[in-house]
Amino acid sequence: MGHRRIWFWWLVAGTIATTCHYVLPDRSLIASILYDVVGLAAAGAILYGLRLHRPDRPRMWRWFAAGQFTFVAGDLTYEFYIQVLHRSPYPSIADVFYLGSYPMLVVGLLLLVRRRRSSAGDLIDAAIVATGLGLAFWIFVLHPVAADAGVSTIERFTTVAYPAADALLIGLLARLFTGGGARTPSVRLLVAAAALMLAGDSVFVTIPLYTQASTHLADPLYLLSYVLWAAAALHPSMSASAAPREAAGVGPARMLLFGACALLAPVLLLLPGIGDDPVDRVSAAAGATVLIVLVLVRLSGFVVEVRRQSAELTRAAMQDPLTGLASRRRFELAVRQALQDGRPQIALLGVNGFKHVNDELGRPVGDRVLRLLATRLSGAVPAGAVVARLGGDEFAVLLPEADAGYASRFADGLAHAFRAPVSLARTPTDPLAVAGHELYVGVAIGLAGGRDVTPVEMLRQAEAAMYAAKQTGEPVRQWTPSLDERAGENVRLGAEIRAALEHGQFRVVYQPIVELPSARVVAVEALVRWEHPTRGLVSPAAFIPVAEHNGLIVELGEWILRTACHRLAGWRATLGPAAPDRVSVNVSARQLARPHFASTVAAALADSGLPASCLAVEVTETAVFEGGQAVVALHELRALGVRIALDDFGTGHSSLGLLQTVPVDILKVDKSFVDNITEAGRNTVIAEALVQLSSGLGLLAVAEGVETAAQAEALQRLGYRYLQGYHFGRPAAEPDFARVPAHA
Ligand code: C2E
Ligand code: MG
Ligand code: MG
Repeated sequence: MGHRRIWFWWLVAGTIATTCHYVLPDRSLIASILYDVVGLAAAGAILYGLRLHRPDRPRMWRWFAAGQFTFVAGDLTYEFYIQVLHRSPYPSIADVFYLGSYPMLVVGLLLLVRRRRSSAGDLIDAAIVATGLGLAFWIFVLHPVAADAGVSTIERFTTVAYPAADALLIGLLARLFTGGGARTPSVRLLVAAAALMLAGDSVFVTIPLYTQASTHLADPLYLLSYVLWAAAALHPSMSASAAPREAAGVGPARMLLFGACALLAPVLLLLPGIGDDPVDRVSAAAGATVLIVLVLVRLSGFVVEVRRQSAELTRAAMQDPLTGLASRRRFELAVRQALQDGRPQIALLGVNGFKHVNDELGRPVGDRVLRLLATRLSGAVPAGAVVARLGGDEFAVLLPEADAGYASRFADGLAHAFRAPVSLARTPTDPLAVAGHELYVGVAIGLAGGRDVTPVEMLRQAEAAMYAAKQTGEPVRQWTPSLDERAGENVRLGAEIRAALEHGQFRVVYQPIVELPSARVVAVEALVRWEHPTRGLVSPAAFIPVAEHNGLIVELGEWILRTACHRLAGWRATLGPAAPDRVSVNVSARQLARPHFASTVAAALADSGLPASCLAVEVTETAVFEGGQAVVALHELRALGVRIALDDFGTGHSSLGLLQTVPVDILKVDKSFVDNITEAGRNTVIAEALVQLSSGLGLLAVAEGVETAAQAEALQRLGYRYLQGYHFGRPAAEPDFARVPAHA
């Protein structure tokens, strides 16, 4: 830990030493010794820092150490002249050492600059700063020194050599100020050290030109420079590699810098003495020209950069980041183009049950499924087609030149390709792998095409067709105007349902569920009816989907539930043991998904006084397949004592896995298996398998839609004990529980 702070204590000690040296009398022995000790210590500290932090690239630090030692050798030689020979010749051997140290420092700084990544913009910035500083340097330091007439050639040469070496330092410093690469504390200290060195040299050579003061004034600058140089080597960040910095934009600081540099030359010309000297005038004018050109080049570079960035943004907007497919924007543009060029067709794909994947397996798996599907889709389209992800689980394909027949064959092929399971278990080391997970995702495809439509309208048509396909469970659906008429019709129907609820136009009828061989009505299924004032009796098949769509099913369903509970409670009170044991109420997905469905049911039971065991709810496989809140609600109902029946079993997903995750008591075997039960065939085999499955899992099997005595007999032979259908009774407001045909 102490090692990490060593640079700080070194800085403190160095500053104190510098202050002491400054207050000590000039050229006293003690001052000289202090000066040389600090110099030597700094050189040693660089070597120590090198050993302490072990940087990947030690070369640059070795050069700094060598430079520092050479500098100190110059100091010692100088002291030897003063203290021993009592004279101070200029130039002397000391200057050989001093000037000799510059190349080493420059090499070190070059190595530092070289390992930083830089753009053309950075280099121009550096050139702007270097030109500005260089101009000032030339006018105030180099030119007066070079023009000083009263000195020998060798002295003039030496005096010019210092600032010239400093000019090199300026260039390198400018690069460090403006360039890319991390500005670690170590780099900042280095920059400060080199800047102090430059300041020291400037003071040293200009003081005799402008004032009578002693060059002693430059000493603290040199000393502090030594201290900082060593502190840079002692700082732990000296071993940090230069991480690339974000490309710098035109920040206010940069604008200020450009402004200052560009104004420098004209301001210099206004200064007394400078505007008069022809050489300075020409220098300032040349410098100003160079600066203005550089600033212009740099600003035009920014313009190019802004253009590039906006092009990049456009490109990003055209691509879906998750799958790399075209975005909705790009797709719309492609459709627009295709409409100008010919007769396009588009196919819109919606993934069935994708929400379930996201909810149950998490977003990362969901994203992977989408990418896999995107790959599958890209592989299944003909050349020239544009494949896009429009968002969520919706994909789209543009067939630029196709007729409806081709599009429909293509869509059938796609639907087939998507039926293959998506394998989620890719590699054993993959953290996302879900062991043994094979996901079956179906798609619903909507097709639209033609000539005289806008792209937006075409997409809307395909979307409407896709939703229609989803609703009916077909894989592919072509848009037709009647789809829209139906949609309009549904809107009207929706409004009417609300009015019907208010005006009490709904009735509940009850269909017996019979136990064999006793032929007792053990249960009834509650079925809703709409007595429409003008249209007569409207089938639930016509209005339930609409009510589900606009959400009215929640209100309607609660009313049905309460009515059914009251009805059975009434029968139990009047008929006693002749009343059915249970009433079965159909419940929609939308109702189950509401957060408080179980408490709604509990309240209906409490209000009617019906025991929970007298109620069953019928749900379809599709309603619970997507998991989530629906399954939570079923568990809560189960906890209340309400039975759960799986309706129309065999027509939905028919996933046996569902029977594990969803609490089920009753399996209602769909009418379609009952229809041909009297002839030996597939349906008979399935019906038999289902009754065996039910008894194996401890479930009650109810056969739905039994219309004839022969069907009843066949079902009974297969092992069915509970039957429902027109043969035993049509749904009625007041079914006759006593007179039910036993079978034939
Ligand atoms: P479901 O739940 O499968 O109801 C059975 C349907 O089959 C009823 O049609 C019933 O009248 C009919 N059915 C019964 N036995 C026979 C038969 O022997 N032959 C024939 N051809 N049909 C028979 P319904 O009442 O038209 O109901 C149709 C569907 O509407 C229901 O199917 C159910 O999914 C839905 N539904 C009916 N009432 C409600 C309700 O109160 N709430 C909700 N959410 N859905 C309901
Ligand atoms: Mg039902
Ligand atoms: Mg059914």
